Amino acid sequence: MLTFDDFSKLSTTLSASISLFKQGNLPHTLLVLGDSGTGKLSFAKLLAQMLFCTSKGDRPCLSCTACNKINSGTHTGLILLGANREDSTIKIDDVRELILELSSYGIESALRVVVIVDAHRMTVQAQNALLKSLEEPSRDCYFILTSSKEKALLPTVISRCTELRLPLWPKDKLVSELIEQGVEANKAEEIASLSGGSIGKALVYANDDSFRELLTLFEDSFLSLNNEKSVAYASSKLKASRDDGDMLINLLEIYTTNLLKKADNSQALKNINNMLSAIATARKWQKSNVSWQATVDYLLFHTLEDLSIWH
Ligand SMILES: [Zn+2]
Repeated sequence: MLTFDDFSKLSTTLSASISLFKQGNLPHTLLVLGDSGTGKLSFAKLLAQMLFCTSKGDRPCLSCTACNKINSGTHTGLILLGANREDSTIKIDDVRELILELSSYGIESALRVVVIVDAHRMTVQAQNALLKSLEEPSRDCYFILTSSKEKALLPTVISRCTELRLPLWPKDKLVSELIEQGVEANKAEEIASLSGGSIGKALVYANDDSFRELLTLFEDSFLSLNNEKSVAYASSKLKASRDDGDMLINLLEIYTTNLLKKADNSQALKNINNMLSAIATARKWQKSNVSWQATVDYLLFHTLEDLSIWH
């Protein structure tokens, strides 16, 4: 689970905003912007926990009943509105229903936190229907809109909100977060490279058994080559992993690209570039009718030839 401390480490602006919010200065209408996977929903939930937390100390405590209920999605004061599955939009009727719900009195508390997930999925009509609520939110109501596509929001919606931007996660922060969550150091490094600054993706990978198995397969095949015999062995190991082909090629590319930092002579650079062009060829083959086995063997031989000096 992510905490405010995790987010505070990402940027000084974000850290300053979090301090302000904690001091009781949370705006009633907040627009949390950031690329997909930057933790917008986690951040919104932390804000809700901060508001509902019953601890006397630092809030949110993440352990009281209110904090736990928000975490499990059972707190009646937190209203999540997101796109319906059929056409991925939030419609005017959804917004009207929300406004009606807000006008009824709460059971656990009068305080209400409305999180509109991927607010850009609201239709124009839905956004217009929300304007009045955003303009005059009641004292006990907080709106938190999250979005990765600011341009799809009406300027009138944006202008009624305080904007807060979540940055991409730098690789070292991803690695330390993953290690903190119990991921082995070498795997954390690979997962962080693969997730491109997205803490969301990184956590999904880290908690996905089949992905961790894939990493082990990658290490036992591509990274264990020392002679032609080992190529044959690796080839048979990879035979059944056709469905994970694209991911394995991504892993190989990340591994190879990382070697660039360590290359200290022209021969090493040449080898790495050879490997990268072999990877590009393999990607093309994946899209054509070349068999997975042929692609694997091609990549394995190149790995042995070009990268064995690094093993
Ligand atoms: Zn709490």
